[in-house]
Amino acid sequence: MHDPRGHYLETFCEVDLSAFGRNIERISEWVSGRDIILAVKANAYGHGVVPICREAALHGVNRFGVATLVEGIELRDAGIEGEIIILTPPTLEQVPSLVYHNLSPNVVNRQLAEAVSAEAVKANKTIKIHIEVDTGMGRTGIIWFDAIGEIYAISQLPGIALEGVFSHFPVADSTGKSDMEFTKMQLERFSKLIKTLERGGMRIPTIHISNSAGLLAHPILGNCIRPGILAYGLYPSEEVRKSVEVEPVLSLRTRVVQLRDFDVGSSIGYGRTYIARNPIRVAIIRAGYGDGLRRALSNRGEVLIRGKRRPIIGRVSMDATMVETSSDVQLDDEVIILGKQGAEKITADDHAKWTHTINYEILTGISERVRRVYVKNGEVIEVK
Ligand SMILES: *Cc1c(COP(=O)(O)O)cnc(C)c1O
Repeated sequence: MHDPRGHYLETFCEVDLSAFGRNIERISEWVSGRDIILAVKANAYGHGVVPICREAALHGVNRFGVATLVEGIELRDAGIEGEIIILTPPTLEQVPSLVYHNLSPNVVNRQLAEAVSAEAVKANKTIKIHIEVDTGMGRTGIIWFDAIGEIYAISQLPGIALEGVFSHFPVADSTGKSDMEFTKMQLERFSKLIKTLERGGMRIPTIHISNSAGLLAHPILGNCIRPGILAYGLYPSEEVRKSVEVEPVLSLRTRVVQLRDFDVGSSIGYGRTYIARNPIRVAIIRAGYGDGLRRALSNRGEVLIRGKRRPIIGRVSMDATMVETSSDVQLDDEVIILGKQGAEKITADDHAKWTHTINYEILTGISERVRRVYVKNGEVIEVK
């Protein structure tokens, strides 16, 4: 694989846009064509936000959820025209920029609402906003029992169009009885709230609560969903109902840059945490925690070379990692850190298990120095 200037890339992340497109289609089918706000925060969960948004648009998805003002501006600069929602409330300081770039903030208090309103009036614009109601998440939002009056007051401000009211689930990915009941209770609170607003004559174009876990395992409330991880081909938890079949979009690859034979008693890498008990052959691979191969994988976890699983030995360093290997492996051989090779595969879920985290953190942890290679129908269409 080469970068756009023709330089050979030993390490890269392949993003299969065809797989991503299939995931979007399957999700859309499952929710009977409801509108989708695709979560593309954190560089589209590490996949590269602009190519992901462009591909999503080809499948009818034109609304995107980012976390920050700068993420929103990056999309506008790239010519993405759909609605861009800043899911985490912006600071008051950011209001002029978000109005300038026609971004839709999550408005969670009167002060922010008034700032957006004043700025929109000044710019002679109408800014679409979404209001988050906290039905049990315990993070951002207006607490559900105070929300009616607040939503009404905010919706009356000039320069603002109340586009959406939404909520979020903390435990929709869990199958435990009390967690299932908690999610059900949130749905009831949210449903009651929406009914009350509508009975009062308020027209809210977009109602959304379902993240990936919500749409997989619970009834869908409203006319829109807000998936993230599922679109990238992974499930929000191991236990969640897998109602929609998806495939991972991303693979992470590197190469063997040195092969060595170590004698009994030799130590491998920083900290001398691995001592050879037998003579061993070691492949040094060109990836480390500076690429997103987490240091917690030291003496844990595996990579694939020549279709076989090879254990990581010693400490993962910033730029290189050692794996125990056999005599069939050769210099420059391809190494799969995440992805398939032959009959074997290693997923972000495997990495999450090995390092006691969640697949989300594995994906978003792939660092910026790793080039993203976009493939569609088996052909490379872009390298970024
Ligand atoms: C990230 C995010 C989502 C998407 O969550 P997934 O679990 O990836 O589906 C939905 N809503 C909000 C508010 C988010 O921040």
